[in-house]
Amino acid sequence: MSEEQKLYEGKAKILYTTDDPEILLAHFKDDATAFNAQKRGQIAGKGEINCAIASQLFELLEAKGISTHFIDRPAPNQMRVKRVQILPLEVVVRNIAAGSLCQQTGLPLGKVLPNPLVEFYLKNDALGDPLLTRDRLLLLELATPQQLNQLTEQALRINQLLIAFFQDCSITLVDFKLEFGISSSQQLLLADEISPDTCRLWNQAETDPDKRVMDKDRFRRDLGNVEDAYQQVLERVLAAL
Ligand code: UDP
Repeated sequence: MSEEQKLYEGKAKILYTTDDPEILLAHFKDDATAFNAQKRGQIAGKGEINCAIASQLFELLEAKGISTHFIDRPAPNQMRVKRVQILPLEVVVRNIAAGSLCQQTGLPLGKVLPNPLVEFYLKNDALGDPLLTRDRLLLLELATPQQLNQLTEQALRINQLLIAFFQDCSITLVDFKLEFGISSSQQLLLADEISPDTCRLWNQAETDPDKRVMDKDRFRRDLGNVEDAYQQVLERVLAAL
């Protein structure tokens, strides 16, 4: 018998304990938030869609040698994961300028970056998840220098794999956010989720800057048809496997 207890409730997921102390159950919610939770809403069916997309992407990455927390998907909106200590960092990888990169640097939306950019943000809602420098990250002891190198390498490798996969879906991977955790055996594992909530994904069949958006920017910017876009991503992911 599994004894489920709520361990943690985040903006998009609830984590429950299971009868195995090393395994947690993640329930993906339909709730959507943006701008540090100042904008809130619901996207019908999002929990199931994101759970399905994230599960497929974790499986694909595992098959290519990336260690993740993913175990399996026992129900449409539930993922069993290895318990990890999440590093309080958001690792963002960018291939094309968008979002805060444009706002903070003046680079035009859509500018293709000469090399992928890896950035680290502090996971701290009260401080508004600030961008960190390498030295600040080390100062705060958020990771060791060795972990920092490992995170950068992993993030770039994951980027290569995801760019190629989304290319097969006729989707451009603009940018995305990753979270990592440390397992009980001290292994660095990719954690959290990879989904249209955490990636910018542009439909290659559209050139219009609003119509091409297949990710949470539809919700952030009130572009409409959010569910349809997420569903379309799932269908393309399943077709490309
Ligand atoms: N992102 C995320 N969670 C966050 C912040 C960013 O998943 O708390 C993702 C976001 O969806 C995008 C990428 O990370 O794919 C880069 O986001 P950016 O820094 O441009 O921030 P935003 O424009 O969302 O403020």
